[in-house]
Amino acid sequence: MSYSVKFTLNHEQDTQKFAQVLSQQVHSGVIYLIGDLGAGKTTFTRYFIQNFGHQGSVKSPTYTLVEPYTIQGKEIFHFDLYRLDDPYELELMGIRDYLETPDALFLFEWPSKGGNEIPKADVVIDIQKSDDELTRFVTLTTESESLSQTLQEQLNGA
Ligand code: ADP
Ligand code: MG
Repeated sequence: MSYSVKFTLNHEQDTQKFAQVLSQQVHSGVIYLIGDLGAGKTTFTRYFIQNFGHQGSVKSPTYTLVEPYTIQGKEIFHFDLYRLDDPYELELMGIRDYLETPDALFLFEWPSKGGNEIPKADVVIDIQKSDDELTRFVTLTTESESLSQTLQEQLNGA
């Protein structure tokens, strides 16, 4: 059974708060980020990774496919599959080795391009822009009832 939480992000600071709240709850596993170009997937990831204590920049791995981070012993892998032509390229770049990293966190932008080469998500974050492009509508889906309840309380105050 999966649980969905819906909320809106009216400013980039709301995205920062969302990333902060989620980073306190999710310390390993697979996160999918779904949404058009400019929806805010990389912006979310930047705040999320910084919340683990990363001080440097968080660049979009559009050309490199993956950007790895090691933060106080924790490994975080940020994938952007937008430019991936064939999921098999992930096999060639050694994704299996990355996926075997214990207790690691994996964030995937454009997971639909990964086919069967990428694992199922623990958390799916869908970000849609409003027509005027000022507001982001987020739907977060998870199989964890407790995570959905915590996010509901902390992001929607109910
Ligand atoms: P994506 O990775 O989904 O293609 P980016 O994160 O690279 O998108 O870009 C999102 C752009 O939208 C950034 O320029 C960011 O400053 C802007 N933006 C405006 N409002 C928000 C918001 N609430 N959340 C995230 N980004 C926002
Ligand atoms: Mg991006």
